[in-house]
Amino acid sequence: MRLEETYREAIKKIEDLLQGAGGIALGFHSVVDGLVERSTPVFRELVEKVNINVPSDPPLSISSREDFLKGFLYSFSEGKALQLMIDSQKVKEWIESIFGSGVKKLGGTSANMALALAYFGFRDVLVYIYPQVEDLSSLFPKLENLWTIDMDGNLSRPWKVNFGKGLDAIHWIFEFKEGESLKVGGVEVVCPRSNRYIASWNPVNSKLKVFETFKEVFPNLFRRYGKFIIAGFHIMRDEYPDGETVEERMEELSEFLKQLKQRGVKIHIELASIRRNRVRRALLETVMKHADSVGMNEMELFWIAGDMDVSDEKIKKGEAVAVEKAIQKLMERTGVGRVHFHTLGYYMLVKEGADGELLGLASAALAAAYLAHTGRRPHFKDLEKVLNLPVVKENLFRVEKDAVILPTKISPNPKRTVGLGDTISSIAFALSDIS
Ligand code: AMP
Repeated sequence: MRLEETYREAIKKIEDLLQGAGGIALGFHSVVDGLVERSTPVFRELVEKVNINVPSDPPLSISSREDFLKGFLYSFSEGKALQLMIDSQKVKEWIESIFGSGVKKLGGTSANMALALAYFGFRDVLVYIYPQVEDLSSLFPKLENLWTIDMDGNLSRPWKVNFGKGLDAIHWIFEFKEGESLKVGGVEVVCPRSNRYIASWNPVNSKLKVFETFKEVFPNLFRRYGKFIIAGFHIMRDEYPDGETVEERMEELSEFLKQLKQRGVKIHIELASIRRNRVRRALLETVMKHADSVGMNEMELFWIAGDMDVSDEKIKKGEAVAVEKAIQKLMERTGVGRVHFHTLGYYMLVKEGADGELLGLASAALAAAYLAHTGRRPHFKDLEKVLNLPVVKENLFRVEKDAVILPTKISPNPKRTVGLGDTISSIAFALSDIS
């Protein structure tokens, strides 16, 4: 099948694929995002006031005002998405005094994916929510295919769960646009691509602790929810104020995953931007061994390749040969059977029987293109509306039994860049292995 034919075929078959898809669950963090749309002018002023350079590597986390600005400068000058955790309450308060809380939106990888799947038309989507407080739950839309498990262990509706008050967590999203510029140390820096910088304050969820009732109830729903997507590792810390370590947290999570696996639940891990080396390594050594599938972008693969001693700058640029080599290494090292890589212009899927997922990948690509192009979450019936968008890396198209490279539709003028990766990975995984 040729490339354009593949896209047309995906549109034809998507309804049947959705009919065949069972329930899918998502954990472990949904958060309140504070969206700051036009952040560059404010950063321009902040940067001009201090003596600072564009760093060649971003800081690992934000413990000072300088870290906060360096993270932005890195992300802005490379045109790359970057998420950093804020470690210091003082810095969090300083950011709040400048930017306020932005426009409050539902965020967090799990919530993003849950909405992507529910709006798209999957029949049964369950999202983990903690803490179950109104500040967070009231942000969930009332969709008939969206469920959660409440603190009493009942299947409930996300917007209804309300077990107490207060929510000490916010993830600021600073959006910047291609072509914007600012001066750093007298030198002009121009942003090469629209993207976003995320600074997150989330002491509540950073342990990635699964609440007990959920642990007891969810595994018994394995017939209904045969797939589970796990994300949120990027908000974990190396060590916690009570002395617990990330390795201990990962062990506890692994025990839960083992239970799910025993019941035949397929597990996908979405990497997201995990800057802390120790957290990434702990994930690689423990939790990842229980996963059936992993999803990531070029920066995330680059970092994890570094952890496996196959660091290569070409991965960052999305060069397919280097990318494939790193993926192979990851599969050997962890035993994960499915890796879905996405970058601007193409996706690579490596697994036994990858060719069987071609239409699922194409559907995910159209969905992401629609979201980028219109700023709205797509329903499956919207996919044909972006069929005319261009594909730039057409020559990479490759369909083999164990590897697929799919050149993707690109919106030349994206209205939205947040949540694209989540949309891509969740839709593709939810559409995988449907017979
Ligand atoms: P992430 O950074 O993980 O959220 O992933 C972003 C992904 O969204 C990229 O890897 C691309 O595949 C996709 N993407 C980014 N910009 C566009 C665009 N303008 N049109 C279509 N897809 C895009």
